[in-house]
Amino acid sequence: MKIQTQILAIVFALVLITGIYILLCGAVSKVIMEQEIEEHLEVLAAARARHIELFLEEQREKCGVIARSDIFIDFLTARRGERADAADAEVVNARLKSIAEAEQEYCDLSILDTAGIVLASTAEGAVGSDKSQDAVFLTGRERTFIQDVHARTGDGKPVLSIATPIRDGDEVLGVLIADLSLAKLNMITTDRSGLGTFGELYLVNKEGYLLTPSRFLDEAILKQRVDLGSLNSGTHEYNRAFLSKNYLDWEVLRVCTPVLGTEWCLLADMRAKEAFAPVDKLVHLMLALLFGLSAAGVLCATMISSSITKPLVKLQRGTEEIMRGNLNYTVGTQGADEIGELSRAFDTMTANLRRSREELEKYSQGLERMVEERTRELNEKVNELEEQRVKTLQMLKEVNETKKELEKAKSELEETNQKLKTSNKELQDFVYIASHDLREPMRKITSFGQLIQESLQGRLTEDEQENLGFMIDGATRMQQMIDDLLAYSRLTTKARPAEQVELEQVIEDLKNVELAVQLEETGGVIEVQGALPAVLADRSQVHQLLQNLIGNGLKYHRKGVPPRIIVRGWEEHDGRVRVEVEDNGIGIEEKHYEKIFGMFQRLHPRDEYKGTGIGLAICKKIVERHGGQIGVYSTVGEGSTFWFTLPRAGGQFSSVTRGA
Ligand code: ADP
Repeated sequence: MKIQTQILAIVFALVLITGIYILLCGAVSKVIMEQEIEEHLEVLAAARARHIELFLEEQREKCGVIARSDIFIDFLTARRGERADAADAEVVNARLKSIAEAEQEYCDLSILDTAGIVLASTAEGAVGSDKSQDAVFLTGRERTFIQDVHARTGDGKPVLSIATPIRDGDEVLGVLIADLSLAKLNMITTDRSGLGTFGELYLVNKEGYLLTPSRFLDEAILKQRVDLGSLNSGTHEYNRAFLSKNYLDWEVLRVCTPVLGTEWCLLADMRAKEAFAPVDKLVHLMLALLFGLSAAGVLCATMISSSITKPLVKLQRGTEEIMRGNLNYTVGTQGADEIGELSRAFDTMTANLRRSREELEKYSQGLERMVEERTRELNEKVNELEEQRVKTLQMLKEVNETKKELEKAKSELEETNQKLKTSNKELQDFVYIASHDLREPMRKITSFGQLIQESLQGRLTEDEQENLGFMIDGATRMQQMIDDLLAYSRLTTKARPAEQVELEQVIEDLKNVELAVQLEETGGVIEVQGALPAVLADRSQVHQLLQNLIGNGLKYHRKGVPPRIIVRGWEEHDGRVRVEVEDNGIGIEEKHYEKIFGMFQRLHPRDEYKGTGIGLAICKKIVERHGGQIGVYSTVGEGSTFWFTLPRAGGQFSSVTRGA
C-alpha cells in the first residue's frame, strides 16, 4: 500500500473514530435535550395547573366567606319565617352588587333558597327563576361545587359557576351561586412564556372541549374539541410529555395535567418542530462538525502525505534513474527532516556509486583484456585437449579392437587348448594302451629270439648270426622304449597322492637297489652334501626322478674317470625345495640345455651311450606335475649339474593330484 494511501487511511480512521464519538455524544446530548424539553413542558404545565388550582381554591374560599355573611343568613332565615320583605331583598341585592363590583372575577352573584328559587341576584331578571333542577344548585346545596364552564344565561358569555351552601349552624338556609368570568383563567393559560411561537396552554373539560381560548382559533371555547383518547386508553400518561396531534393536526409535544378538584385537564402543547428545534440544531451542528472534521482531516492527510511522499517519490524516481544507469541524477531535497537527510545520503551514495562505476569500468577494461588472454590460452588448451581426446578415443578404439581380437584369440586358444587337452588325453590313453599291449609281444620276441640264437649256435653263418643279433638287439631296444613310454604314461595314469618324502631315504634306496649294479660297474660314488629337506610329492615319482638324474650322471661319465655324484638341497624363500645333482661327466653344450628335456632327444649315438631319450622328459613331467621347475647348467668335459624344485613338506603347496 502506498504511504499516501496509508496516511489517508489513518487520518480517515481517526476522523471516523472522532465522528463516531461526536455522533455518540450528539445522540446522548439529543436524548438529554429531549428529556430537558419534555421536563420543561411538564414543569410548566404542572406550575400552571397548580396556579389554576390555587385560583379555584381561592374562589371557593371567597364564596365560603361570602356565604357566611350575616346579611345573607339573616335574609334567608327571615325568608324561612316569611318575614322578609322587599326592603330586605333590596339590601341583599345591593350587597351582592357591591361584592361583584369589588371582585372583578364575579359576573353575577345569586342567592337561592333551599327550593332552588333565586331570591336575590346581581343579574337582572334572574330573581324568582327556578334552578331547583340545576346540578349547580343540587350539588351546591350539599357542598361547595364548581360547575363546568358554561354559557351564561342571557349574553352566552362563558362563565364558571361556584355554588356553596349558606348555613346557619348545620342548617342549610340557601345556596350562593357565583358566576365567575374566565378572565383570570384566560390570563393564566394565555401566558405563553416558555412555549415558543406556536405553543399554547388551554383547559379542556372531560369531554375534551376547550374551556380557555385557543391561540389560533377564535370562538373556540366549548366549541373546539381535543382528542384525549390516548390518555383515556392509557397509551400515554398524565403529567408526562408525549407526541400527539393537536386540533389543527399539527405534530405537538403535549403534557396533560389534571386540575385537582375539577374534571379538567390543562393541556400544554408545543409544536414538536419548534420544541425540538434545538435538538435538530444540535444534530445539524454535529453533522456539520463531522463533515467539517472529515474535510479538514482529508485536507490535512493530503497535505501531510504529499509533504512526506513528495520527497519519497523523488527518491523513488532517483532509484529508477539509477536502475536505468543514470548515476548523474540528484534528488536535491533540502528538507531538514529525516527524508531530507535520506535524500542527501542518497545523493552521496549516487556520487559514490558513480565513482565506483568509473573505477569498475577501468578495472573491467583490464579484466576484459585478461579474460581475452585467458580465453585465448584456454582455447589453445581446449584445442590441445580436444586433439588428445581424439587421439585417446582413437587409441581406445584400437584398444577395443585389440581387446576384441584378443578375446577372439583367447577363445580360439581356449578352444585349441580344449582340443589339445582332448587329443593329449587320447594320446596318453593310446600310449598307455599301446605300450602296455606291445610290452608282452616284445618280451616274447626278445626271449624267443635269444632262445633261437642259443639253439642255432654254430649252425648259422656269421652274417646270419649278426642279423639275428641285430634283430634281438632291436627288439630289446623296442622293449626298453616301450617300458620307458609306459613309465611316462603312468606318470599321469598311475599317479598317487602327495606325501612327505625324505630324499635322503630315497637316495639310500637307489644306492642299494636300482643303481647298485651301475655303481659297481662304473666304480661310481653318490655323495649327499649336507642334510636334504623333505618334500611333499608322489613318493614313487620322486624315486623315479632321482633315479633318472643320478643314473644319467653315472652313465655319461668320462672314459677313465669314475663317476662322482653329489646331491645337495635346500629350502628356497618361496617355500620350495631346490635339489641339485652334480656329476663329473662329459658335460652338455649350452645349446642343448632345453632340447634334452624333450621326448626321444639324445645327444649321443646309441653305440656310444645306450638310452631311449625319454628319461629327462619323464623328469620334466614329474617336476612340472608338482608345480616345480627343472634345468641344467654344465661345462663340457667337466660335468653337469641338474637342478629341480619341489614343494616343501609341511608347506602350503599341494598341487599334485591323481590324473593331473
Ligand atoms: P638317455 O639317457 O636314455 O639317452 P635321457 O633323456 O636320459 O635319455 O638323456 C637325453 C640325453 O641327454 C642323453 O642322450 C645324453 O646325451 C644327455 N645327457 C643326459 N644326462 C647327461 C649327463 N649327466 N651328462 C651328459 N649328458 C647327459
